[in-house]
Amino acid sequence: MKVAVLALQGAFAEHEQMLESMGIEYMEIRQEKDAHQSFDALILPGGESTVMGKLLRDLDLLPILKKKIEDGLPVLGTCAGLILLSDNLSGGEMPHLATMPITVKRNAYGRQLCSFRTKAELKGVGSVPMVFIRAPYIEKIGEGVEILAKVDDHIVAVRYKNQIGVSFHPELADCRSIYQMLLQSVTL
Ligand code: GLN
Repeated sequence: MKVAVLALQGAFAEHEQMLESMGIEYMEIRQEKDAHQSFDALILPGGESTVMGKLLRDLDLLPILKKKIEDGLPVLGTCAGLILLSDNLSGGEMPHLATMPITVKRNAYGRQLCSFRTKAELKGVGSVPMVFIRAPYIEKIGEGVEILAKVDDHIVAVRYKNQIGVSFHPELADCRSIYQMLLQSVTL
């Protein structure tokens, strides 16, 4: 089993450390030829979604990754990664993958610091630590989207077919259950 981590910008190294500590082989996607290699799952990290979206477009990665996800590649999008998956961005368009029928609000907790830590129930898992950094939340979900977690009545984690999207940073809170969920969808 090999997990690819999108390594253009943002918190990709922290995801790699988590995978390493769990004994999971990983590779980085930095350019088009990496995306043509064989891998079993994909992680889209947090960071700055506008920058990542532009890089994905400029490096010709958007169509390849979009097709792989639509063809069933298990994917985990965290924070900015969730924004890249959303097919509807409230307040501003930008290049992105748009593979999940959800509406996401960027910087939903305010533009300034607005970083916080909490614990909340993750469906099927129990209470898990969640770290939010200039985080989005999910305003609306489309058909077939399952809500996995809410914080203060806002949706912060969802699953749609082979795709998992979370507003928070599991890699900064040693929240292994999110990775286990992704790996389970590889073996389904
Ligand atoms: N605010 C960032 C964005 O809109 C996301 C922040 C993060 O990934 N921690 O892209």
